[in-house]
Amino acid sequence: MSNPAPLRDSFGRVHDNLRISVTDRCNIRCFYCMPETDVHFVDRREILDFEEIERFARIAAGMGIAKIRVTGGEPLVRRDLPVLIRRLAAIPGIQDLALTTNGVLLADQAEALYEAGLRRLNVHIDTLDRERFFRITRRDDLPKVLAGLDAARRIGFSRIKLNAVAVKNLVEGDIVPLALYARENGFEVRYIEFMPLDAQNLWDRSRVLLADDIIAALSREISPLIPVPDPDPRAPATEYTYADGGGAVGFIASVSRPFCLNCNRLRLTADGKLRYCLFAIEEDDVKVLMRGGASDEDIAALVRRNVAGKWVGHEINSGKFVAPPRPMYSIGG
Ligand code: SF4
Repeated sequence: MSNPAPLRDSFGRVHDNLRISVTDRCNIRCFYCMPETDVHFVDRREILDFEEIERFARIAAGMGIAKIRVTGGEPLVRRDLPVLIRRLAAIPGIQDLALTTNGVLLADQAEALYEAGLRRLNVHIDTLDRERFFRITRRDDLPKVLAGLDAARRIGFSRIKLNAVAVKNLVEGDIVPLALYARENGFEVRYIEFMPLDAQNLWDRSRVLLADDIIAALSREISPLIPVPDPDPRAPATEYTYADGGGAVGFIASVSRPFCLNCNRLRLTADGKLRYCLFAIEEDDVKVLMRGGASDEDIAALVRRNVAGKWVGHEINSGKFVAPPRPMYSIGG
């Protein structure tokens, strides 16, 4: 089934990027994402199986989705993930397949993921300091993450990105060491402004380390940064290169420089809900349709309705902001 009409919303934004969460489970406990204990996960029977995920991705590809990012929770805790990766990589129309992981299981799985057709990786790491890593994640897994990065680079993943959540009064001392580590290893850091998506409502504007402050620190302590000319306006990251030729670095500044006007992303949650925005309050139930015997056309119609109803963007900077009913781990990055 193909439908040439692009997935355009009422603001003229064309959607070609789908983020698929394959689980809400995770093997670490980042404080800005989930509580340390009493984490509520959806019943496993409610999680989409590989056939359902592949079917939805195939329908979406027929509607112009060309990029897929696999997320979680932590996607590498999902058993047999390379099987799904191979299926997604084989869907006609999918030109870009990426995955975001916390890296704890990466050393064991990098080869199988690469062989299955995965080529792009973002690894979430906020600090190289083992004590601070423990404070943030409540797990002593930094050595495993670093081993995973090493393995992924050796196996052939290129342009590996490091997603670093920038929480103020916590990671200022990590900004430069992480950037230097990335330069030495050919990685690219993506500094991500802390967003109000945590399960415990800890977020406060005063805890956001702003992109401009990080840019100033890197320029002062490493090398001036040069904005990348003609960047892809729909990419969430604002990209720079180091003037000394030491590589690239990016900033996902959702709070200080919202990029909603160019948003091209949709999200499918692990339990089969379609969300037109990370912060969406409402969502559409794909799973109930699929398990109810709906046709591909019915599911495509739901996707079109979802996109048609998409809002202009998050309201973090307006007095109207309402936190979404799901925390980050049950949406996926
Ligand atoms: S906040 Fe929502 S609308 Fe804005 S860029 Fe993110 S997903 Fe898109």
